[in-house]
Amino acid sequence: MSNALPNSMQARDVEYLLHAVTNARRHEERGPIVIERGQGIRVFDDEGREYIEGMAGLWSVAVGFGEKRLADAAYRQLQKLPYYHSFSHKSNEPAILLAERLVGMTPERLRKVFFTNSGSEANDTAIKLVWYFNNARGHHAKKTFIARQGAYHGITIASGSLTGLPTNHRDFDLPIIPVKHVTCPHHYRYADPGESEEAFSTRLADELEATILEAGPETIAAFIGEPLMGAGGVMPPPEGYWQKIQAVCHKYDVLLVIDEVINGFGRLGTPFGCNYYGIDPDVLVLSKQITSSYQPLAAVLISDEIYQGIADNSAKIGTLGHGFTAGAHPVACAVANENLDIIEERGLVENARVVGEHLQRELRRRFADHPLVGEVRGVGLIAAIELVADKAAKRRFDPVGKLGLAVFDAAHEQGVIIRAIGDQIAFCPPLIITEKEVDEMLDRFARAFDQATAGLNPA
Ligand code: PMP
Repeated sequence: MSNALPNSMQARDVEYLLHAVTNARRHEERGPIVIERGQGIRVFDDEGREYIEGMAGLWSVAVGFGEKRLADAAYRQLQKLPYYHSFSHKSNEPAILLAERLVGMTPERLRKVFFTNSGSEANDTAIKLVWYFNNARGHHAKKTFIARQGAYHGITIASGSLTGLPTNHRDFDLPIIPVKHVTCPHHYRYADPGESEEAFSTRLADELEATILEAGPETIAAFIGEPLMGAGGVMPPPEGYWQKIQAVCHKYDVLLVIDEVINGFGRLGTPFGCNYYGIDPDVLVLSKQITSSYQPLAAVLISDEIYQGIADNSAKIGTLGHGFTAGAHPVACAVANENLDIIEERGLVENARVVGEHLQRELRRRFADHPLVGEVRGVGLIAAIELVADKAAKRRFDPVGKLGLAVFDAAHEQGVIIRAIGDQIAFCPPLIITEKEVDEMLDRFARAFDQATAGLNPA
């Protein structure tokens, strides 16, 4: 920042903008990277530097940047009907078509869709609809959610409470809704020495059952989880995990809320994470790739059973008192419909599967044996490398995150945007990426990795 002109965009940013998920003092010193435009898997800053967007923005730009069809879809809808809401029996065509389409492409039991503007609002909505449903069927004490340590479900007061990450709780006085966090299903970190993936899954299902029994099943409303955990560090579940977790939920009438804000729309090489892991949710939460984030939009899908309970109750008390001004926004829904057309027409789910295999293979081939790499993991087009000080002991660096930040900074210098989650380096490129582009991304990353780790002596 020291050499930025006083009236530059960088200086004005530092003067006026409070950044999300940023160290505010560090930001004053280094200033922002102002992204000006994007094309395909690449973005360009206002000084003309080009970056491969290895994170698809925030795990979300499925069809890549600069997709004219999405701009045209937004423009057409803006001219026809720029805004309407879904309160008191009003509707609009793009929202109806999108709801129909989502019900058609997601697991069978899901029958109705409620739209919000963000994943956090969608998870808040899921919590409220579960509570409302349980009140409607007379289960007034059934309110507690069970989430996992290390999970990310958003940052509003309620969804932030479900999130199981200290930075999202500390000094925000969260959690404040009734929530219990159980063990993170990450085999590398939390399995006992010698414990198989299946045995670890069994232990976690037993822990869930014990948690439910200890609190009393009549107080436990739902279990929430991402099929593959994303923002917490890209953690695929161990073998058999979801089957065992689902069985416990069914046994105690605990609803299963599946958060596919990252997994949804092809990220794992299947339409949804539910397809990949064989999950049958009562509630499904979608966002991000639904519009490739060209417009803010999220969706909550509920089973017919939940819908019938909600409908009966709202008829009794006169209305379902929940909704957002910009929910079911026609422009966002029109962009989503066009985006889903593109994903279908270009076979991007299949591309994520095929190119994803290449990404997973190449990451392991190039980095798994490195003395500072504890684990390389992922499925489809989402992956992470976990950096450790001592590979054999799986010992983390002290302090955690310093090397991750150095890799993150070096990656910018080398022209690739990745994410450092502590010392876990995440990759989540747009679904349009080719094998050749994956190689280019990893070449740049390898240079950044060597630069950041030069001189570090592994234990
Ligand atoms: N759930 C998951 C799994 C997420 O990854 C995110 C955002 N990264 C959210 C919810 C919250 O979405 P938003 O940022 O749109 O509120």
